[in-house]
Amino acid sequence: MRINKWFSFFAATLLICGLMTPGQAFGQSEKEIRRTMDSVNDQLAFMGENVRLAVVEYVTTGKKEGQTVYFDDRAKQMGTHWVPGDPRRGGYLDISWLSDQVDGAANGLSLAETQAAVGNALATWEGVKCSTIPLAQLADFGMDWGYVQWLAGMGGIGGWYADITQAGWLPGVFFDLTLGPGASGGVLGVTFTFGWVDAAGEFTDIDGDGKHDVAFREIYYNNAFPWGIGTSNPIDVETIVLHETGHGLSQGHFGKLFKTDKNGKFHFAPRSLMNAGYTGIQQHITGTDMAGHCSIWASWPW
Ligand SMILES: [Zn+2]
Repeated sequence: MRINKWFSFFAATLLICGLMTPGQAFGQSEKEIRRTMDSVNDQLAFMGENVRLAVVEYVTTGKKEGQTVYFDDRAKQMGTHWVPGDPRRGGYLDISWLSDQVDGAANGLSLAETQAAVGNALATWEGVKCSTIPLAQLADFGMDWGYVQWLAGMGGIGGWYADITQAGWLPGVFFDLTLGPGASGGVLGVTFTFGWVDAAGEFTDIDGDGKHDVAFREIYYNNAFPWGIGTSNPIDVETIVLHETGHGLSQGHFGKLFKTDKNGKFHFAPRSLMNAGYTGIQQHITGTDMAGHCSIWASWPW
């Protein structure tokens, strides 16, 4: 019932934008995302859940800039972060994660290949020297993880288990439904951040760090693109997993997209892992990415 309601909302949105070319629609995606994803929060409120979607961050092929869309107008661009020992997450000091095996195979890669890349990316973040990120992998016991996926009526489960869920590779239509028409043609990966809300439905900041408290995060990858290992095109899987997991660990986008007039090519400055567009293989954390990460995690009580 609830899923159907959400779906008819999407259907209406798709209809409204039916005259636009995919490129045009994608260019207006912040509005589209807000309109479509606000319905997620209506559904969560209706179900009596104490979480709301707080931020959506996605990375694109690089010809257009990916975005960060916030769902709290009064605290526009307020950060989101985990609370150490948050009683609402069971009081743990670590950050748990799991990887969905049901949607784990990608267009061009086997389940074993994608999971090796996921493992590498998590280990890369865990290995950063300035912090001891307490990442703890939970055993996947065969469920088709994904709350947003469930809300979109494309499988998944109506709840969450790990703090960070690598929810796998979904068909392009999932991205059109959740991020707006045409998104499937440009979005490579997306991270949905859900925050805890109080009885009034307001995002909370119980540790007073000036950031909304994260309840859980879900990461999805777009199977409309071909994926590879160690190649710029097909898309290097470890690079995108590393980028999205950066969002999973509270890091935002960094750098601006420029078009070079003389050759018409796009580039980011400074180039970094957390650029909102894919600029080729980047399997290591350096420079600005490291600084951003350390500013967030160096003080974690571990
Ligand atoms: Zn991103």
